[in-house]
Amino acid sequence: MKIYLLNILTLSLCALAFFQCDAPLRWYVIVGILLLHAFFLFFAVKNVQLKFFLPYINSTKGQGALLTFDDGPLEGDTLHVAETLTKHGVKGLFFLIGERVEQQPEIVHKLVSLGHAVGNHSHTHPKNFPMLSTQKVVADIEMCGTALAPLTKQSPIPFRVPYGLTNPRIGRAVKRLGLLTLGWNLRSFDTMKKGSEVSKKLKTRIGKNSIVLLHDHSDFSKNNLDEFLQWAGQHEIKFADPHAFIHSI
Ligand SMILES: [Zn+2]
Repeated sequence: MKIYLLNILTLSLCALAFFQCDAPLRWYVIVGILLLHAFFLFFAVKNVQLKFFLPYINSTKGQGALLTFDDGPLEGDTLHVAETLTKHGVKGLFFLIGERVEQQPEIVHKLVSLGHAVGNHSHTHPKNFPMLSTQKVVADIEMCGTALAPLTKQSPIPFRVPYGLTNPRIGRAVKRLGLLTLGWNLRSFDTMKKGSEVSKKLKTRIGKNSIVLLHDHSDFSKNNLDEFLQWAGQHEIKFADPHAFIHSI
């Protein structure tokens, strides 16, 4: 709906410029309006936080910090993260890729038995996810849901968009499936930075509303998570229970 309103606004402004301005000024104004339109759409596609194409949850609203881990299950990495969290009495939310779930269901089984929550992160996590048709996006998300269904009784299972890129087709797919879409408000960039840098950033930024974006296989998750959670315990950082949080939305 928002996209249609934006298109109508852009066309109205172009028409206004056409009838109110003399040539050649009118053409400069129209090109400027179209460039602004394209820039805004590009920004909206890259920034899911704008909630332009789909509803999006990006705060725990005071329930405590929520640690989320994307792209598992991965042999070794995912259970290391899960067991480290459990050691410190923290429950995480793992956004899993369906085809990896099918390959290693025992990891998901263990995650669930430890009390962690799981999310749908598409079936194949394709690089061209934003280019897929609505039908293909729906099918990909549904396949991940099918892979997860026999391994957990959790309901609802939230969805996180691969790569954090959105567009009208993904928006329509999410609406059609009635999904709860979960994002983040604290991006760690843990796949690009050293674990120690990520830890330092989290220590200064984490708070009671934080949804932290992390990955199972990052340097931080492998080497700094334990130390970070120890620090968090000493500083009485409150962590959200992902199950309670999901149910409260
Ligand atoms: Zn991902």
